[in-house]
Amino acid sequence: MSKPAPGRTGNDKVKKRRAREATVTDVTRLTEDLVRISFDCPGIRGEELPHTDHYIKLLFVPEEADYAWPFDLGEIRDNYPRHLHPVTRTYTFRRVDTETGTFEVDFVTHGAAGLAGPWAKQAKVGDTIIFGGPGGAWHPEADYGHFVLVGDESAAPAIAAAIENLPAGATAAAYVEVADENSHFEMPTGDGVELTWVHRDGATHGHQLSEAVRAAGIPEQRTSWFVHGVAEMLKEVRRFLFFDNEVDKKDVSISGYWRIGMTEDQWQASKRDFNAEIEAEEERLAVK
Ligand SMILES: Cc1cc2nc3c(=O)[nH]c(=O)nc-3n(C[C@H](O)[C@H](O)[C@H](O)COP(=O)(O)OP(=O)(O)OC[C@H]3O[C@@H](n4cnc5c(N)ncnc54)[C@H](O)[C@@H]3O)c2cc1C
Repeated sequence: MSKPAPGRTGNDKVKKRRAREATVTDVTRLTEDLVRISFDCPGIRGEELPHTDHYIKLLFVPEEADYAWPFDLGEIRDNYPRHLHPVTRTYTFRRVDTETGTFEVDFVTHGAAGLAGPWAKQAKVGDTIIFGGPGGAWHPEADYGHFVLVGDESAAPAIAAAIENLPAGATAAAYVEVADENSHFEMPTGDGVELTWVHRDGATHGHQLSEAVRAAGIPEQRTSWFVHGVAEMLKEVRRFLFFDNEVDKKDVSISGYWRIGMTEDQWQASKRDFNAEIEAEEERLAVK
C-alpha cells in the first residue's frame, strides 16, 4: 500500500476518519423486526457526545479487498479505488456511556437483503464491528417549549434519546411508525410526553406516518421538529410543514434515513437529486 497523500493527514481529519472496534456484549430481540445490540468499546471513553442523534458508520470490508482489520480508514480511502473502500451503514446510538465505553444500537432486521440488517439478525455475544464516527448534529434545544418527533423504527432510537433529554418543562409529541400493533417496543415516557404509535398495517412505509402528522396539525406553541426515517414520507411532510403551513425551516430537522428499494450507498448517491426535486416542486407550488 502506498503512503497517504501529503497534506491529507492533519490531526482533525485523521481523528474523523479513524475507525474503531466494538464487541457485542448482549443481544435482545425487541420485536420481530427489531434487535437491540449492546457493545463494549473502550475507544469511545472520554468522547464528548452532546447530541441525541449521534450515529456511527458501520464499516463492511468488501470481500475482494486485500486488507483486513486493523486498518487505517484514511489510508484506505486515500490509496484504494472507491469500490474497495469499506461499505458504510449508518446507525444511531440508542444509549451511549462514554465513561464505561459502552453503547446500544437498535437495528431494524428488514429481511435477507443488505449488510447491516442481516448481520444484526445473526449477531451473537463476542462478535465485533468496525465503525467510523460518531457524528451527530441535533438535540432538543432549551429555547423551544415543545417538540414534535416523527420517524419509523430506524429513527426511533434518536426519538427515544430526544425524549430522555427534553429541556426542563418542555413537552413533546412523538409519532413512531411500526408494522402493526404487535410491533410496539419500549419507549421512554414522561410528564408532557405524548407517544402515538402509527401502524402501517400493510401500507407503504411512511404513508401512515405522514398522514398522522398532517392530521395532528401544527401545535400552537413554538415548536422544534425532528422528522427522520424512510425517504418516501419526506415529500408529504415537507409539503405539510413548509408549503401548507409556512413553518420556519430553522425549526425543522428533516431527512431520509433510508429509501425503499435502495441500498444505503444508492440512497446516499441519489439523495441530493431527490432533495433537489422535492425543493423544485415546492417552488413550483409556491408560484402557482
Ligand atoms: C443518520 C442515520 C441514522 C440511522 N439510524 C438507524 C438506526 O438506529 N437503526 C436502524 O435500523 N437504521 C438506522 N438508519 C437506517 C439504516 O442506515 C438503513 O436502513 C440502511 O440502509 C440499512 O442497511 P442494510 O445493510 O441493512 O440494508 P441496505 O443494503 O442499505 O438495503 C438493502 C435493502 O433493504 C431495504 N431497507 C433498508 N433499511 C430498511 C428498513 N429500515 N426497513 C425496511 N427495508 C429497509 C432497502 O430499501 C434495500 O432494498 C439510520 C440512517 C441514518 C442516515
